[in-house]
Amino acid sequence: MAAYLDNAATTPMRPEAVEAMLPFLTERFGNPSGSHATAREAKKAIEEAREIVAAGLGARPQEVVFTGSGTEADNLAVLGAHAVAGGRVVCSAIEHHAVLHATQVAGGVTAPVGADGVIDLDRLAGLLDADVTVVSVMLANNEVGTIQPLADVAAVVRERSPRALLHTDAVQAFPWVDVAELAAPADLVAISGHKFGGPKGVGALVVRDGVALRPIVHGGGQERDLRSGPHNVAGIVALAAAVRATVDRRAAEVERIGALRDRLADGLLASVPDSIETGDRSRKIAGNCHLSFGGVESEALLVLLDGAGIAASAGSACTSGAIEASHVLVAMGVPAARALGSLRLSLGPTTTDADVDLALDAVPAAVARLREG
Ligand code: PLP
Repeated sequence: MAAYLDNAATTPMRPEAVEAMLPFLTERFGNPSGSHATAREAKKAIEEAREIVAAGLGARPQEVVFTGSGTEADNLAVLGAHAVAGGRVVCSAIEHHAVLHATQVAGGVTAPVGADGVIDLDRLAGLLDADVTVVSVMLANNEVGTIQPLADVAAVVRERSPRALLHTDAVQAFPWVDVAELAAPADLVAISGHKFGGPKGVGALVVRDGVALRPIVHGGGQERDLRSGPHNVAGIVALAAAVRATVDRRAAEVERIGALRDRLADGLLASVPDSIETGDRSRKIAGNCHLSFGGVESEALLVLLDGAGIAASAGSACTSGAIEASHVLVAMGVPAARALGSLRLSLGPTTTDADVDLALDAVPAAVARLREG
């Protein structure tokens, strides 16, 4: 038996997305930039995909820019906006590296979060002034799953930095919350196909009408003059199919998977001594279960779980040979010893009761084995 509980890293493709993309990998292979019938067929498919993605994101079709990944969408938002406006960039301290590193490249600063993993609005306000041109706050965090209060963030930004563009990284949020509604206050919104049953290597950025960006990838300007390089037609078509399936099933999946997540988290908290849940569950996306175990090293735990057939991940990374706590847990003030014993189990549409049962057996056994030494 095996259980894939790493859906925040990537998801298996939805059958609809696979089916949608196959013809564009075979007989419908055209490059949409041409002018003959084969090219026009590909162009039509992209424009249909753009309409579907726009509807799923609460945008107009002409506001959707297809990119090569969520990372590229985030970079285009932060660096593209900063290149036009100059000034200062501010992002939350728990952003994915795609935003965090882009902010660092632009010489920007980070805004703190509370112990609950939610942005501290007063401290954000303290960093904002008329010179701030880009603010980036994710809709849901990839490690601990916290949903950020974007409407409140937007209100603070509009008041204190009236010329700033607000970007939100909705890459992890999209499978779980109504991004069309919750990201409505943002000028820029990023998603990534492989986090919700689409393929890897395709993303999208909503760039609201009137928002000025400078491209970060230069060439033929194929994608609305904001992104160069040939369109990944098959990937874009599959991304759109995954958007549609996700939006159609979101409410039912959130209910089913949220119940599985609660059984998993509650079961592990009850059966593993000295275990703590990270953050406030009521403010998390339904697929996130993030725990820490005293006296355990995540890396060793992951190896044992892998051996037991469980794919999971941890809130730490091995940097230059030393294990370091993740910047998200550090920003939340999680003590280093706890952060280094953390485990992220992320559920998705293919997660079953049997997966949860396996984890409820294997995690306590692995923790106990590591504690025995
Ligand atoms: N933003 C968040 C919150 C993510 O979790 C990820 C991927 O893990 C990305 C951006 C990057 O997306 P991609 O893998 O498509 O580059």
